[in-house]
Amino acid sequence: MYSGLGEETDLLTTLADQAAMAVANARLFEASEGGRQQLEAILTATPDAVIVTNDKLELLRVNPAAADLFGLQGHQIKGRRINEMINQPQLALALRKSGERDTTDEIKLPDGRTFSASTSSIVLDGSIIGRLAVLRDVTDFKQLDRQKTDAIAAVSHDLKNPLSLMHGYATMLPMVGKLNARQREFSEKIVAGVEHMSMLIEDVLDLHRIESARGADWESCYLDVLLQQVVDEVRPAAVTKGIQLVGETAVGIKAIAGDPSLLMRAIRHLLDNGVRYTPVGGSVVACVEMRDDDVVLSVSDSGVGIARADRDRLFERFYRVRGQGEDESQGSGLGLAFAKSIAERHGGRVWLDSQLGQGSTFYISLPVQKVDGDEG
Ligand code: ADP
Repeated sequence: MYSGLGEETDLLTTLADQAAMAVANARLFEASEGGRQQLEAILTATPDAVIVTNDKLELLRVNPAAADLFGLQGHQIKGRRINEMINQPQLALALRKSGERDTTDEIKLPDGRTFSASTSSIVLDGSIIGRLAVLRDVTDFKQLDRQKTDAIAAVSHDLKNPLSLMHGYATMLPMVGKLNARQREFSEKIVAGVEHMSMLIEDVLDLHRIESARGADWESCYLDVLLQQVVDEVRPAAVTKGIQLVGETAVGIKAIAGDPSLLMRAIRHLLDNGVRYTPVGGSVVACVEMRDDDVVLSVSDSGVGIARADRDRLFERFYRVRGQGEDESQGSGLGLAFAKSIAERHGGRVWLDSQLGQGSTFYISLPVQKVDGDEG
């Protein structure tokens, strides 16, 4: 009798425990189901296209905006390779590379729209379980940017004539009468100022030309060969400043399709900057190597370095860091904009690593000439 009561109590306790567990599980399920529905609603509502793949670049899901963009409605996409369903090799390439770092690439669609694609890896417990791409329509921004550039180019072009007039008359001043020492000093300053402005205007117009260039007369270029030529050109400036300039190249550098004079100009800007922003006695090391299907040029200096706040804006036109001890009238703030435009013109990109006070490394990465269809 006594023991029977004990058994019933045990039974009731067990049942109560199981009921409590069932209630907890139901709550968990409800919470996770609620979370899932919330996520679903967010993905459906976002105007940005979202694509999720596994680590083998097989599609797991696309939101309605992405399905619209790539005409995937009504298609069975799950498990299909991204290249089979979306004809954007650049996107597949960016997703594949997202294992090393998050990237942002511009993707042009055949209908003329431009998208900014941010790609990253989905990491769980230290290993990559998938890839994510978010594409945003930036067509309007690109158009605005182009209009701004066109306006700057038009104004710059119109300034050329009055400037050459000023230059002509200022240089003729000493010929039409004897100038005293101060007058000569002033007229020389006017000439120097006008020459600096003319140089800036030529740079702006050049930048505009690069941005609108078509690339019809491109040839096979070897970045290691171009680097050696630029190192030879920049060496005298480095020697004068007591800076050790080294150009290194790995073996087996592949050719890229490009304009050699533009590519040399981009390299020159990076090397010039390395020498200019490195104190006497420092070093600048330039290196060309292969990374997968890209030829990568890096220029490392032991110079002043760049603060985080400046790094994001450094490649913008006319952006200059103040107070680096460099003669601020020397530069135009266009050198890195040139390097970026030239790299992008060749289907590549630029970026940098830097620590304030410990030097900087600038990179240009350019895709090799032959782009095969299978990036998956
Ligand atoms: P410029 O050198 O003519 O001012 P750039 O576009 O080449 O224009 O460079 C923009 C700015 O970036 C420079 O004014 C300088 O502040 C900074 N910068 C460029 N390269 C370096 C470098 N290697 N080390 C430190 N700062 C740099």
